[in-house]
Formats: sequence, structure tokens, C-alpha cells
Amino acid sequence: MASFASFRNALLDPVLGVYHWRALHGRTALFNQYCRQALAAGIDRLYYVLSFDCDAPEDIEAAMSLHQKLLRIGVHCAYAVPGELLERGAKVYREIAESGAEFLNHGYRQHVSWDAGQNCYSSLYFYDRLSYTEILEDIRLGDLAIRHILGRRARGFRTPHFGTFQRPSQLRLLHSILRRLGYQFSSSTTPYLGFRSGPVFSRFGLPEFPVSGMFTYPLRILDSWGCCEAPQRNMTMENYLEESRRMTVALTSAGQAGIANFYVDPRHVEQEPLFIEAVERWLEVAESTTYSRILASCCSNQAESAVGVAC
Ligand SMILES: [Zn+2]
Repeated sequence: MASFASFRNALLDPVLGVYHWRALHGRTALFNQYCRQALAAGIDRLYYVLSFDCDAPEDIEAAMSLHQKLLRIGVHCAYAVPGELLERGAKVYREIAESGAEFLNHGYRQHVSWDAGQNCYSSLYFYDRLSYTEILEDIRLGDLAIRHILGRRARGFRTPHFGTFQRPSQLRLLHSILRRLGYQFSSSTTPYLGFRSGPVFSRFGLPEFPVSGMFTYPLRILDSWGCCEAPQRNMTMENYLEESRRMTVALTSAGQAGIANFYVDPRHVEQEPLFIEAVERWLEVAESTTYSRILASCCSNQAESAVGVAC
């Protein structure tokens, strides 16, 4: 499904084709361009932002245990939890929030269901198949769930299955809804836009933080699904660690400025020492932080910058 979406998007956006070519044949120049864009946006160092998509009930218990491990090694975490699951795991997520974690609105409806035939979760409830009213309602209910369960407002949003919701018209619509609801940022775009527009940019309305990709193919998202749950997967956690390690080297060599913006599902990695090893590699070269903190610091750094991030 993701590959069909990629193909369709490449037809709709010829520049994407150029970036696919560069990802295969001009990787060093791509990383150098990315770091220059980071500096122009007021990001003068390398940040590591780790977020968790908590799409399944099994993530509730896994999140608590993983969060405690990560707190002990000094990692700031962000959580994207659909409202239905936030209600179900209210006690756990409230405790995580009280420890200082950032929570993103991730819509209200649970957007995966268990597929016994494939022995994995399968995706449902894609925003590109919903009407404007349905999208607005899902975001609004997700917003209310965070206020109700955590007693605070979310500042940021992540679109469920955001890979299928990447067209400029879709992103403009999303940002217009978020702005209307008082949101400050989104992290709902693929690595392509990170290379094209930088680690944080405002071309669709609000500041947008694209997620990061793999080293061997920088336009492809590096997540835990492809290593731990996807049917017919061809990656393992050993590959995850290696891709992650090579990205630390690539971004350090390119200028050590930018945002390593990675997400995983807690149930995939909670028992994986290789995941913790990957995180520790990032801590050696990058500053662990949250989206809100980056926004605050890049807005104060860019007072005289040429690239605006809509602070
Ligand atoms: Zn999700």
C-alpha cells in the first residue's frame, strides 16, 4: 500500500523523482543540503527526537516499561496515541505524561485491527479516504481525549498512517484544521520533505517536522514495523541498529545540524536490547529533546534568519 502511494505521489510530484535519484546516487550531497537547511532554520546542532506510535492495546504495558528504561538513560520521549487507546490506557499514559513526556494528538479512532491470518495488525482508517468533516471530527475528538485524560492540551499532531496523506493539498488542509484548533506543529511528513524543505519548515501553514529515513535509502522511513511486524519483512533489529548507526555517522559528517526524528511502536522494541543500543548511539552525537523544545529554541535563534518557521 505504501509503495503504491509512493508511486502515485512520484507521478503527481516530479521533484520527488529527482529526490529518489539523489537518494540512490547523491546521498552525501543530500545530507549536506539537509544540514545547510537546518542551520538556515536556526537549528545549530543535531537533535534526537524519539516518538512512539502507540497504535495497539499491547503498546500500553510496553510503553510504561520502555519509558522507564529511556528515562534512566536521559531520553526525552514523545507519544502519539489515538484517543480510544488513550482512554483504555489512561492510568499508564497519565503517569508517562506526568514524568514530562510530550503527547501528540494522533486522532481519536484506533487505526489498526488484528489480522489473525497474517498474525499482525493491519492498518485501517486512512485520512486520504475520509471527508473533510470526518478528518476534522477525528482530530477534534483526539484533542478532547488528551485534554480529558491528561488534563493538558496537545501542541502537536501526527496523522494516522501519514504516508498516504502527503499531497500538498492534503497537508495544507491538515494544517488549516490544526491551526484552527490552536495547534503549534505537526510531525506528519515523510523523509522526502525533510530533504526538500529541511528538518522543520512551514510551507503548509504550521511548523512541520518530517520523520527521518534509513541510511541506505534516505527517503524510506526507518521504523520498527518493517523490522518486527510487517509480513514478509526483510529487515531485522540488527538492520535497524546498523541503519541507525550509519545515519549518526552521515549526519555528523555533514555538519551535525538537524533533527533525527525517529518513531517506533513500543510493543516492537520494549524487549529489544538492540533498540536501546541504537538510542545510545544517538545520545553520543545528538541532544535528546522534544518537538516543543526545538520549536522554542529555533524560534529564538532565527530572529535574523532568512528562513521563517512561523514561530
Ligand atoms: Zn498510528
